[in-house]
Amino acid sequence: MTLKPLIAALCLWTLSSGANAATIRSGDRIDGVPVIEQLDVADLPSGSLSRFFFRVTDQATGQGWYVPVLVAKGAAPGKRLLLTAAVHGDELTGIGVIQDLFKDLDPKGLKGVVIGVPGLNQPGLLQAAREFKPSHGATGANLNRKMPGDVNSDEIINVYAGRLWTKLLLGNADMAVDLHTQSRGTLYPFYVFAETPAAKHMADLLRPDVIALDPGVRGTIENEFNPAGIQAVTAELGAPEVFDPAMTRRALTGIRNLMIDSGMISGTVSLIGPEPYVGNDTTDITAQRGGYVRVKVTIGQKVKTGDLLATVSDPFGTVIATAVAPHDGQVLSVATTPIHEIGEMMVRLIYWKTAKP
Ligand SMILES: [Zn+2]
Repeated sequence: MTLKPLIAALCLWTLSSGANAATIRSGDRIDGVPVIEQLDVADLPSGSLSRFFFRVTDQATGQGWYVPVLVAKGAAPGKRLLLTAAVHGDELTGIGVIQDLFKDLDPKGLKGVVIGVPGLNQPGLLQAAREFKPSHGATGANLNRKMPGDVNSDEIINVYAGRLWTKLLLGNADMAVDLHTQSRGTLYPFYVFAETPAAKHMADLLRPDVIALDPGVRGTIENEFNPAGIQAVTAELGAPEVFDPAMTRRALTGIRNLMIDSGMISGTVSLIGPEPYVGNDTTDITAQRGGYVRVKVTIGQKVKTGDLLATVSDPFGTVIATAVAPHDGQVLSVATTPIHEIGEMMVRLIYWKTAKP
């Protein structure tokens, strides 16, 4: 490099990291990776791939909780796609999806920005737990009901959610896919929740097995993003506690479809496999007795009112309860563990409720 381009490059660098830059670097590094207190992808260099640890908040020992962040900023402007995983700490496949996506992302051929956060609930990940429970003294709770959080709260889960929301997620996305799986002891197909027509379009491009059109529940990443004008879906990728290769491939194809459709990369949208089943309501069939459950249906199976769904047996194998379909529908989720408390889900049906309010 001759002196002239070097000076030009230095000027550019100075401009892009000037006093008004909103990415706040703490100056620390963890395992060689720079630590940030706030991210604004606008001030990262175009055509670059960046890795950060975002310092979320304090642990009970006074050290930090950090989440990993990957940013691919395209050479040209475009949409900002945010991918998050493991807001529930035992739902892992999405982490592998983000890692694998970034292996193949070329910022030089990208328009816009892809931001990946492969591991939102760090306490949950460490404890193989769905809930957020950062130490023995804290109450465990669902981090995906706490968005947008509150950085001024005196409860750590609200501070953790609030810092994620305001310093990392909200300002950096035009569209978002929050990657989940079903919970421990249960199984989902590839299943996407969509709250708005724009989100339904995203769901169609992901090409899951099932789409739920529903208003969602407040406090989730998806359902707080959509009212904020950021089109977002929740994507469920099968079973918890594993990296599922087949689900990963399908999710990667779907995410590339989203990027092609929104002009971020060139290519052709690939919609392989059958049209998704679309429902707008679900029913949980729960164990009325505690005992050993034998599920009699499979994921994706159509059922009619009165069809046998599951039995519960006592320790000697005697059936003590049976469960039948209360209405027509499709099997959305099944239990994978036989051991059931009273009230635990054995089968979940999805269906189209015509009189939905
Ligand atoms: Zn989840």
